[in-house]
Amino acid sequence: MIPADMPTSTKTSSHPGGCACGQVRFRLTREPMFVHACHCTRCQRETGGPFAHHAMIEWSAFEVTEGEPSHSQSPTDSGAKHWVARCPTCQTAMWNEWGALGKAVTRYVRVGTLDNPHALPPLAHIFVRSKQAWVVLPAEVPQFSGYYNVQKTWPAESLARYEAAKAALKTATKNEAKPAASKPARKRQIQQ
Ligand SMILES: [Zn+2]
Ligand SMILES: [Zn+2]
Repeated sequence: MIPADMPTSTKTSSHPGGCACGQVRFRLTREPMFVHACHCTRCQRETGGPFAHHAMIEWSAFEVTEGEPSHSQSPTDSGAKHWVARCPTCQTAMWNEWGALGKAVTRYVRVGTLDNPHALPPLAHIFVRSKQAWVVLPAEVPQFSGYYNVQKTWPAESLARYEAAKAALKTATKNEAKPAASKPARKRQIQQ
């Protein structure tokens, strides 16, 4: 039997996080596939900050460990569905999902909601064309005027993880055997 104060996982790469009031807790069970900062005007408005700082983790390496988030839909330029997972009590926005709710391959975790946000600095800055002028970016981190080419920018290992998670999700969804209720997944590039 595991004592109550022992961590449930011995994985050193686990990144726990949660909302401001502590009702909803979650964790990444491995290192994120990628981390980027998005300086687009949508992200600035949505976060109320100079940029969004997102860690991308596949659904199979992400778990809600306490509480139950609520999801609010946020407008997008492309018209694609974009959900923000929040604490139902304190409304802290913790992560984003694209597409059909609960069927997204990737969780875009807001790094500032992790217990140790220092561990995951951005590996790329995107939409720097709308970056706030006072934000000075480190020269050694790649910058992109708009969105980036994920295939060229993410490490090969991360691309492989994404594809594996996508395939696993397809299988998991099929096994749920929801008869013809869900629409076929549209072919879509990984979104920001
Ligand atoms: Zn809360
Ligand atoms: Zn953005």
